[in-house]
Amino acid sequence: MNVYDSARMADALAPLGYASVEAAESADMVIVNTCHIREKAAEKLFSELGRLKVTKQQRAEAGRQTIIAVAGCVAQAEGAEILRRASHVDIVLGPQTYHRLPEMVARAARGAGSQLDTDFPSESKFDHLPESRSPGGVSAFLSVQEGCDKFCTFCVVPYTRGAEASRPLAAVLAEADGLIARGAREITLLGQNVNAYHGQGPAHCDQGSNRADWGLGALIRRLASLPDLLRLRYTTSHPADMDEELIAAHGNEPKLMPHLHLPVQSGSDVILAAMNRRHSAEDYRKLVARLRRARSDLALTSDFIVGFPGESEADFAATLDLVRDIGFCAAYSFKYSPRPGTPAAAMENQVPETVKTERLARLQALIALQTQAFNRSMVGRVLPVLFERPGRHAGQLVGRSPYLQGVHAAAPLSLLGAVADVAIEEVHANSLAGRLSGPATRDAPHQRSNDRAMEYRSA
Ligand code: SAH
Ligand code: SF4
Repeated sequence: MNVYDSARMADALAPLGYASVEAAESADMVIVNTCHIREKAAEKLFSELGRLKVTKQQRAEAGRQTIIAVAGCVAQAEGAEILRRASHVDIVLGPQTYHRLPEMVARAARGAGSQLDTDFPSESKFDHLPESRSPGGVSAFLSVQEGCDKFCTFCVVPYTRGAEASRPLAAVLAEADGLIARGAREITLLGQNVNAYHGQGPAHCDQGSNRADWGLGALIRRLASLPDLLRLRYTTSHPADMDEELIAAHGNEPKLMPHLHLPVQSGSDVILAAMNRRHSAEDYRKLVARLRRARSDLALTSDFIVGFPGESEADFAATLDLVRDIGFCAAYSFKYSPRPGTPAAAMENQVPETVKTERLARLQALIALQTQAFNRSMVGRVLPVLFERPGRHAGQLVGRSPYLQGVHAAAPLSLLGAVADVAIEEVHANSLAGRLSGPATRDAPHQRSNDRAMEYRSA
């Protein structure tokens, strides 16, 4: 979402004459867009600000002004602290006030002193940000939902991004049209809790009743009707918000890719309850079974936290069991990081750092084995690949498989933005390689992929 937000800030500043440059040394303004989800993210900000202080001084000696802004969730949570510790920062703004950036920049350029804006304004930033005009890529992000009301006990998101809010259907469709007109063929719908989406739109029939709020499944069906859009994905979802319509979309909407990031965090019911996750490990297993009944080749990825307060060796073993049972093809895993102001940070039974480190290593080793097995199971298969950009070698294009794997193949530039079948021949550290097989198609040959993923799981 920060990648998306950064692009939208660039859009907001374009009318003022700003354009992106590669290096901070040549920038009249630097915006550091930050994440507050774990402690390291805040530490990284302060070391980055230390480097920028030197850059700002060197530019000042050469007679050039540099405006430094800090955006994102660290700005939201620690705005005053940032201004106290880093007096060379001119602007601090939280995630909900990006539309006010041009005004703040104009004031900073006049030397108005440091400014802090961490409001949750009643007007939506989306209504006030200009339409994007920058050339988009083949695969684009589109934020449809922000904030979260779940209050998992470890998480800062409900405090930094605020209450759950969905963009209206018309705004999402207008942005999707713009992205497609600028070359997007795949759209990933974004939200902190994207499947809580409930945007207002014209009345439509959903699960037998007429309603004006559109769930994510209905939104996906609507977007899938756009002829030039070839693929859809969404992230990140909460297991408790996977409704019938969204599950059904995995089965009956071929443009919705068979890859789902569905964070579970832990396999232990005691820990899931302490996390306030609102589901048990068994609920998650049943949900995955329903999803796989809808789409048998669905590849699942997840997020895990190890060393949450009170996590015993048996709790951790339950997490490893869940990883094996579901057969996640990849996952992000993190040591629990106490976030100021969240309930879990005040829990007494914190797990020692050494235990967290050891458990994380075991979990990551298991996940790595599953990722390798999943990737190896692709060799000999033909996968539909959406080509996104030229590869490092001449005559080569890079794209993605339905399961989000990077795929390299020798292919003509004319295939950029098209889906073509690739016979997979090799597995590299982070990608697959193969050769073109057959003509380019406009959509994914769904059934063939299904059969082979079933083989991987039964193996
Ligand atoms: N909305 C998503 C997650 C968003 S945060 C969900 O409900 O799952 C992204 C990931 O960061 C989380 O899934 C979690 O695994 C991790 N995370 C969040 N807070 C954390 C903390 N305090 N310590 C360690 N990892 C954390
Ligand atoms: Fe954080 Fe996700 Fe829980 Fe919301 S649902 S509080 S974003 S982990």
